[in-house]
Amino acid sequence: MKLERTLVLIKPDGVKRGLIGPIMERYERAGLKVIAMKMVTASRDQAMSHYPVNEEHMQLMGEKSLKTYVEYGLDPIEYIGTNNPLEIGKMIREWNSEYLSSGPVVAIVLEGIHAISNVRLLTGNTLPTFALPGTIRGDFSIDSPALANSRKRAVINLIHASGEPEEAEREINHWFTSDEIHTYKRSDEDVMF
Ligand code: ADP
Ligand code: MG
Repeated sequence: MKLERTLVLIKPDGVKRGLIGPIMERYERAGLKVIAMKMVTASRDQAMSHYPVNEEHMQLMGEKSLKTYVEYGLDPIEYIGTNNPLEIGKMIREWNSEYLSSGPVVAIVLEGIHAISNVRLLTGNTLPTFALPGTIRGDFSIDSPALANSRKRAVINLIHASGEPEEAEREINHWFTSDEIHTYKRSDEDVMF
């Protein structure tokens, strides 16, 4: 049985737009159990260390972003002073940290069967402009990398959700202490298990 825990952050745009309730509803009604939740205004350092220094990940992010510049006929050197994917990836990590610390976030730990992949499915594509209707990002957001990159900022996409088990474990420990995580039975577990 693939009982997993995953970390969700409702990013500052979700909080400021009054979307905490609608977002929580999507996860709760799908059967995911809220086992920890709090509002945090993250310092720049706390936001920075949420995004690990992972050169491979930054390089990939930079390459994707570089493609966006080319696709939209923007000269990356003119815009951000470099066309080196790793440098761009590092820049996006800075933009992400700036975004995450720009206001309060709601940090949540969700538990459930295949919680990590289920939460990603419910959340939708990272880039709101490609997120399908019915997903949270598809229904509530519209940002595109072309707009984000031309403004030298992160893609604004309401939510962070862990991508894989090691990431989930690291991120849960980053935002919560063990005594902030709770154990209880949801009534629908009687039907499920
Ligand atoms: P996810 O949040 O779906 O796990 P990633 O881990 O790939 O996505 O990226 C982390 C965050 O970086 C995204 O949630 C988004 O806010 C931002 N981001 C992703 N791609 C870009 C990009 N090309 N330009 C600017 N910001 C980006
Ligand atoms: Mg990610």
